[in-house]
Amino acid sequence: MKAIVVREFGAPEVMRLEHVPDPAPGKGQVLIRVKAIGVNPVEVYIRSGTYARKPSLPYTPGTDVGGVVESVGPDATRFKPGDRVYTHAMAAGSGAYGEMAVAEEAQVHRLADHVTFQQGAALGVPYGTAWRALFLRAQARAGETVLVHGASGGVGIAAVQIARAAGLRVIGTAGTDKGIALVRDQGAHAVLNHKDADYMQKVMDLTGGRGADVIVEMLANVNLDKDLDVLALRGRVMVVGNRGRVEIDPRKAMGKDGTILGMTMFNATPEDVKQVHAALEAGLENRTLHPVIGKEMPLADAVKAHAAVMEPGAYGKIVMIP
Ligand code: NAP
Repeated sequence: MKAIVVREFGAPEVMRLEHVPDPAPGKGQVLIRVKAIGVNPVEVYIRSGTYARKPSLPYTPGTDVGGVVESVGPDATRFKPGDRVYTHAMAAGSGAYGEMAVAEEAQVHRLADHVTFQQGAALGVPYGTAWRALFLRAQARAGETVLVHGASGGVGIAAVQIARAAGLRVIGTAGTDKGIALVRDQGAHAVLNHKDADYMQKVMDLTGGRGADVIVEMLANVNLDKDLDVLALRGRVMVVGNRGRVEIDPRKAMGKDGTILGMTMFNATPEDVKQVHAALEAGLENRTLHPVIGKEMPLADAVKAHAAVMEPGAYGKIVMIP
């Protein structure tokens, strides 16, 4: 099969499309014929060699695919060839950026017939992160207000749809008119432009001066201190994305009994994963969740896809087709 292989960490060009042996599923594993691949920022960080977690070289990047079960290994009983599925992680030694991928059975989830393979590839990391961030970490509750700070990208769109379906009041932000319109279409009650000088004051205006109960933060190194200004009493800032250091005034958190939380999906327990994907599968089934695909590219353009996912002007999810 063809797959992207990374033989050294570095610039996007270290990703090369190569012929590699077809993988085979081991005990408890599922072999998936990949129809679409989700491109996540973390794959850029890992490829560049700057991320805390480094796979051993060479490796094939990626964790999220939508596809069809090709075969199953011994003791894998939940799936059969032909089943439509999506993944949120790969078996050791396998990666999503190829024509076939191997995942542990627990990392494979059913894809309802009305959900496209591209949408399936947009679920694993983005929707998994949004659900875990909102409910397992920030303990968001119906009736609360959530600020999705960076709502136009993969995780942001997911957070907007999930929070809206759960009865929260949703304020989203985006950096372009197109992104703002997209976030509004996904169910946000209000959308602000995070490039406007006074947009954080508008969060206070929109909440009658109370602030947001939960802030799902996609760029903490820029926003964390300002988030504390618009946090409601007993509010929670959920740091999902961060690309550098930041100075904050902790007194702002003290004055509100506020909490700053961090998370990474690498810490999700098997129980978290079970809950998250049960909820996502239900949301797909009842059609409250519908991933938005902003850009579709061939797998051969993985280098361009990695550049695109780091550019501003997000519009849903970038997927690649093998
Ligand atoms: P993405 O699709 O590239 O979206 C990035 C988002 O950040 C866009 O909505 C973008 O808005 C927004 N943004 C840009 N400038 C901003 C600003 N000044 N303030 C607030 N938001 C801003 O990426 P993604 O997949 O959604 O991931 C978002 C972040 O979360 C990334 O940093 C990623 O690494 C991280 N992440 C973490 C985890 C975890 O486990 N902790 C899991 C998944 C992702 P515009 O483009 O419209 O300006």
